[in-house]
Amino acid sequence: MAQPTHDLASEKEARDVAEAARESEWAQPSFLRELFLGRFRFDLIHPHPAFDPEEEARAKPFMDALREIMERVDSDAIDREGNIPESLVQELRDIGAFGIKIPREYGGLGLSQTSYIRAIGMVTSKDGSLTALLSAHQSIGLPQPLKLFGTEEQKKKYFPRLAKGAISAFALTEVDAGSDPANLQTTATPSEDGKYFILNGKKLWTTNGTRAELILVMARTPDVIVNGKPKKQITAFIVETDWPGVEVEHRCHFMGLNAIENGVLRFDNVKVPRENILWGEGKGLKLALITLNTGRLTLPASAAYAAKQMVRVSREWSNERVQWGTPIGKHEAVAQKLAHMAAHAFAMEAIAELSSAMADRGGYDIRLEAAIAKMWNTEAGWRIVDDTLQIRGGRGYETADSLRERGERAIPVERAMRDFRINLIFEGSSEIMRLFIAREAVDWHFKTAFDVVNPEATRKERLAALARSVKFYPKWYTTRWIGGFNSYSEFGRLAPHLRYIERTTRKLGRAIFHAMVRLGPKLEKRQMVLFRAVDIGAELFAMSAACSRAQMLAGRGNANAVELANVFCRESRLRIADHFRHLFGPNDASLYRLSQGVLKGDYEWLEEGIVRMEGGEVESREQKAESSETLVGR
Ligand SMILES: Cc1cc2nc3c(=O)[nH]c(=O)nc-3n(C[C@H](O)[C@H](O)[C@H](O)COP(=O)(O)OP(=O)(O)OC[C@H]3O[C@@H](n4cnc5c(N)ncnc54)[C@H](O)[C@@H]3O)c2cc1C
Repeated sequence: MAQPTHDLASEKEARDVAEAARESEWAQPSFLRELFLGRFRFDLIHPHPAFDPEEEARAKPFMDALREIMERVDSDAIDREGNIPESLVQELRDIGAFGIKIPREYGGLGLSQTSYIRAIGMVTSKDGSLTALLSAHQSIGLPQPLKLFGTEEQKKKYFPRLAKGAISAFALTEVDAGSDPANLQTTATPSEDGKYFILNGKKLWTTNGTRAELILVMARTPDVIVNGKPKKQITAFIVETDWPGVEVEHRCHFMGLNAIENGVLRFDNVKVPRENILWGEGKGLKLALITLNTGRLTLPASAAYAAKQMVRVSREWSNERVQWGTPIGKHEAVAQKLAHMAAHAFAMEAIAELSSAMADRGGYDIRLEAAIAKMWNTEAGWRIVDDTLQIRGGRGYETADSLRERGERAIPVERAMRDFRINLIFEGSSEIMRLFIAREAVDWHFKTAFDVVNPEATRKERLAALARSVKFYPKWYTTRWIGGFNSYSEFGRLAPHLRYIERTTRKLGRAIFHAMVRLGPKLEKRQMVLFRAVDIGAELFAMSAACSRAQMLAGRGNANAVELANVFCRESRLRIADHFRHLFGPNDASLYRLSQGVLKGDYEWLEEGIVRMEGGEVESREQKAESSETLVGR
């Protein structure tokens, strides 16, 4: 398939920087890495973590206080006014909501990742803007990277402030650096005496940026020379917003999350002390990516709790609303949606809880689990919000205020939809998650055998790859056809699904290998082939998590959890079959060709008859300043 040839040098540079920042080692076991290699290591995720009663007791006073606040928050007013009142922020500070995971010795609540996602989930079930405030601070803002990479001195200095509610933010994105953060242009130049770095540049869409006291800023520090070539360096700095030169240039407004405190931040010769580097010079991009690996566990939980809320709304409305003489929940089209959303909300919670419990337990590498959890849960959640809106009919599309004003229950599905959509974009868009997962899914094969087909490999490298392949593949490949005949009889009705997962995992391992043999180095560019393999892996993970959780809940008396898992697995299996059927995408080539024609303008005639929806010219900041000066002058 023809690929665009433009700017190959910068494409290569971006990939090299991202590759250098990638965690290339797998020191700890990973359920999903094994799965993509065709090995179903259920023992790594089963039994499903039952909650620790001691932790639950420790978390209870906080969870009760948070629930009490959330029950009386007026989230429609927050949405309408686009503002979270300072009094509410202070109440959240007072109960420790800004230091949920910060260790107790530094003034935080010292609760687990699982308690944290449950708290944030509860908040999300009512108010997306409040979630953005708390989660941008704790999932990606300063507390998380400080915990992972801070020196003792830095922790002593910043944790107590953060725990008390000094709001923090994470500033990576720039105008030209979105999904490709390696492209960032903000610079940090060492001062002559070496004691400071001088920060210059602009960050885009920094959540909490307009209200934060502390910001983690990723910036370019001087290149280092490696093997005679300059190597890009990105470094993370803790920046205090009251330092001279830090300015909020613009507060951004979005489709939803109306009260999110998100803005464009400008740094003009900001003097940052060297001791405010987090982790080390040149380690900033890796720090950002590792922070996101755990940080991204919040969104799957948020999505799951939003889905739980939608199930509640849909259940009540489908009973209450009578059309054509019957409650709408009895009409098959609505009934199917209800079943689908209940089964999927169950799987979403299973994934969110499992991934966070793995992070708590330690001893696993969860970067793939976190990425799949983020991608799969946000996409499943979006479909659930969409179905809820459909079930609510015209009322789903109507604002809560309008419903209230005309005397109906103010159920804010319209707000939920606006607030939810961004989840598929930030903290790694769905496409970038699939790319990241695909890169890791083929990693073993690339490390073992890639040089056999790599045109850039030397003869020595090719021979070494051949030797590795001869040693590994005969046994691995044979056992991907036969082996693993577990009955899983202890799972009762779910046993056939577990046997299916086991054999389909082997099939997936083979399919990825076949794709590599068939496409060689071109596989890297065949995103759609790779993405279908990723989607199969994601479904198998969701099925495994759902079966394991159902077994745990059944043991606690929720026998009908098995029905949820059963229906979910049946649906998931249909999707998997579909992905396998179209793995090599019979239409991929024609679609790509057509898209390139669209890009070139070959089909511009299709757009005839429209008027452009975007109006007005873009006014630069300088022009704006000039015109307001002129006005003042008058
Ligand atoms: C409300 C909001 C809050 C945010 N908060 C923060 C924050 O606190 N801190 C921060 O640093 N950033 C933040 N962001 C930025 C966010 O993380 C980025 O929007 C996101 O990384 C995507 O970048 P982009 O929007 O520039 O999209 P682009 O990178 O321009 O991508 C556009 C589209 O192309 C796709 N795409 C890009 N590259 C590829 C590829 N190689 N293969 C296939 N598809 C590709 C993307 O998936 C997307 O669909 C926020 C954004 C928003 C809107």
